[in-house]
Amino acid sequence: MCAEVAATKRKIEGNQADFSSYWAALVKTCPLAVLGVGSQGEVLFWNPGAEQMFGWTEEELLGKPLPTIPDGAEPEFQVILELQLHGIAQQAKDVVRRRKDGTLIFLQLWTAPLQDNNGQIRAKLAILSDKSDAARAEQERTRLVTTGKQAAGHAHSMERFKELLEAAPDAIIEVDAAGRIILVNAATEQMFGYTRDELAGQSVDQLVPEESRMRHTLHRQGYGECPIRRPMGSGLRLQGQRKDGTRFPVEISLSPVKSADGSSTAAVIRNVTDREKAETGFREMQSRLTAELSAANRELELRTDEAERANRLKSEFLASISHELRTPLHTIIGFSQLLAEELEGPLNEKQKRFVEHVHRDSFHLLELINDVLDISKIEAGRLDLHREVFNAVDAVREVLASIAPGAQAKQISLQMSDYPPLRVHADRLRVKQILLNLLSNAVKFTPEHGVISVECGQQQDAAAFSVTDSGLGIRHEDQEVIFDKFHQVGPTTKGVREGTGLGLAITKHLVEEHGGRIQVESQLGCGSRFSFTLPLA
Ligand code: ADP
Repeated sequence: MCAEVAATKRKIEGNQADFSSYWAALVKTCPLAVLGVGSQGEVLFWNPGAEQMFGWTEEELLGKPLPTIPDGAEPEFQVILELQLHGIAQQAKDVVRRRKDGTLIFLQLWTAPLQDNNGQIRAKLAILSDKSDAARAEQERTRLVTTGKQAAGHAHSMERFKELLEAAPDAIIEVDAAGRIILVNAATEQMFGYTRDELAGQSVDQLVPEESRMRHTLHRQGYGECPIRRPMGSGLRLQGQRKDGTRFPVEISLSPVKSADGSSTAAVIRNVTDREKAETGFREMQSRLTAELSAANRELELRTDEAERANRLKSEFLASISHELRTPLHTIIGFSQLLAEELEGPLNEKQKRFVEHVHRDSFHLLELINDVLDISKIEAGRLDLHREVFNAVDAVREVLASIAPGAQAKQISLQMSDYPPLRVHADRLRVKQILLNLLSNAVKFTPEHGVISVECGQQQDAAAFSVTDSGLGIRHEDQEVIFDKFHQVGPTTKGVREGTGLGLAITKHLVEEHGGRIQVESQLGCGSRFSFTLPLA
């Protein structure tokens, strides 16, 4: 120990009594709360700083339990007291304590154990400083920082808002309750030809044509009574007026604006000149097109009528000419047959051959005329069916018998199994015509020594028939078109004398008119199978 320190120590020990009065003065004048708490939690001393901080006087508390612990914090206080009595000190611990008036106070706590003359810890010393001021200062600082940030944010937003306002393609005007212009954007200046200084404080009515101003003032006042966001003058054609007096069509939407100095209105004004021009152009084009379309429709209707009339006349002409042709043809056929029978005297070989030609070709001509007559009736919608109930198997046998001579001449075998009666509800003559056409085609397009077979039976709720031949067959691509009028395959049936090209068209129509269906399956060189259905009786 150096001599100087030892001397100081001696001086302190010598002045022990003086120092304890210094300590007492120090504790008394200290602005912090300084208090002593006994092992039972009773107050041992309580300085004026504590009186100031908590509101209790020393007299009120000496020897009494410490009253500053808030409700619910007692267990924690007991633990801390216990630790302190075991010599553990606390440094600047944040605590909450209660004042006499019941309010809470935020404090920082320092503690130290107090020993008696024997070195036993009997009590603790607590020093508390009010943290509220520091906390308030911190709060204030935080508030100022936040306000500063908000102000910066607000300024940024204002800047952005201004940019957006100026960049808007529509004119935006804010007017006060009296209709005076408070704010305009760049688009307003361009649209109306005024500078913003010229407009500021002026009545918004000056942007409206003179004759509409009175009405506009009334509407404006009306809007003030019921300020909601809505289009202005819906259903009306609104116009704006430029500084030079020229006018242009506008569309305006209004919305109320709450501002510090009362309520104002924001008007967004759009110049709709281009849109109106486009609309007018569109309407003109639309009406021109509509006119052209209806003219074209009228023309089409006329042509359709003409075509229908011409078609009807053609059918009527064909029907009447066919009818007129059949009469002399029957005479030719009858007399040539009589000649061939040699009842009026014998014919030489040449004459017989000539008469045979006359007879065969007249017959062919008759078939042709009958086909033309049928097709013209079909086209004129005048082919009537005379339905009756009959056994279709009989009809098939009759037709087979009629084509037998032709088949025999080519040594074609005709085959048909025994079938039970098949009762159909159909036009007997027309059904025989269908069968005759299919069978005579089969004979026509099947080479010598071929086979033709007929099948009939019931298929679901219809009578089904088929004519199968071992003839030339039909190419796949021709199988649909052979049912068209005047369609003949040509190259693949070379050498076989085709008819009018009307037979299958008439046949298909007759089948469908009965409510049935007809189809063909065929392979070139391997024969064909025509099948059709008719309604059962
Ligand atoms: P056509 O009077 O020429 O026989 P159709 O309308 O009856 O007229 O037949 C149209 C065409 O279908 C025929 O010219 C022929 O090329 C083809 N055709 C019809 N039936 C058969 C068949 N059984 N075998 C091969 N080809 C056929």
